[in-house]
Amino acid sequence: EAKSAGSGVFRHFVEDMEHNACIRRTLEIDLGNAIQNNEFELYYQPQIDLHTMKICGAEALIRWNHPTRGQVLPDEFIPVAEKIGLIVPIGNWVLKQACKEALNWPDSINVAVNVSCVQFGNVGMLGVDLLQEVKLALEQSGLPAHRLELEMTETAIMDDVDKSCAVLRDLKQLGVTTAIDDFGTGYSSLQYLRSFQFDHLKIDRSFVSHIETDVDALSIARTIVALGRTMGILSTAEGVETKAQLEIVKEIGCDKVQGYHYAKPCSVENFRSYINTFSKSRISGSHRVA
Ligand code: C2E
Ligand code: MG
Ligand code: MG
Ligand code: MG
Repeated sequence: EAKSAGSGVFRHFVEDMEHNACIRRTLEIDLGNAIQNNEFELYYQPQIDLHTMKICGAEALIRWNHPTRGQVLPDEFIPVAEKIGLIVPIGNWVLKQACKEALNWPDSINVAVNVSCVQFGNVGMLGVDLLQEVKLALEQSGLPAHRLELEMTETAIMDDVDKSCAVLRDLKQLGVTTAIDDFGTGYSSLQYLRSFQFDHLKIDRSFVSHIETDVDALSIARTIVALGRTMGILSTAEGVETKAQLEIVKEIGCDKVQGYHYAKPCSVENFRSYINTFSKSRISGSHRVA
């Protein structure tokens, strides 16, 4: 009895696994066609400079407009794309598209692009050359290098420190800027942080969203800002959703903010009208305009 019930459970388990594997396989196949089919789109989320209260940049965030499933968010497909190597062509598309679109914005507005650890060539992919792809994207678009920022996580860099160090040095030489994403959630060594010479660090949303209620989150955020200061790195608060959070991150000395309080990521058309509305508004910065 118990045995047959057990095997029944096991059979369901196997069927579930097969079902999931099937879904994953379909996702992989669809993902493989998505570039040619023009199904990717970049959304942009504004970044506000807390010293000037002006828009100083936007982060490019990929969206997949799937023909039957509708809009798919990156957390669902980026890990799959990384696993099967498709993140390299996708990442190259993102670089080119972001540079091309940013060229139509005011010079004072930079564009930030997320770079996967695979694009660093850190996880055994041969023939991956991030530097070459960045150069190409800049040349083809005509975007000045200083207007492009590359965001990477601590974990992506720490995968292969020597390699990352070399790639980052070359990128810096090219004139692009760099940011550590989701800072405080990965593991990083302060020693390396110093030698990598990042331009920005982005305080992870998990600290910012608890900054009003959790004294630990607040003191971590304070410490990150202070750490950045001593190393000449500017800090950005990610995921600021409320006026109260904005006031606190300002008070503790963050240089920039990004978050729903100002705007959710939006299409490039909507981002362009956001820029216009924001700059026309007399009280620009002190109120959300979208
Ligand atoms: P990320 O780089 O840390 O991007 C910030 C994420 O937080 C975005 O999610 C953004 O929509 C969300 N966010 C921003 N402000 C707020 C807020 O105030 N509240 C809340 N609840 N969320 C906020 P999204 O667009 O779903 O992207 C998720 C992640 O996917 C990104 O995290 C990044 O790691 C990855 N990603 C996105 N686009 C790309 C890409 O082009 N290439 C690569 N390799 N990864 C990408
Ligand atoms: Mg990012
Ligand atoms: Mg982030
Ligand atoms: Mg993230």
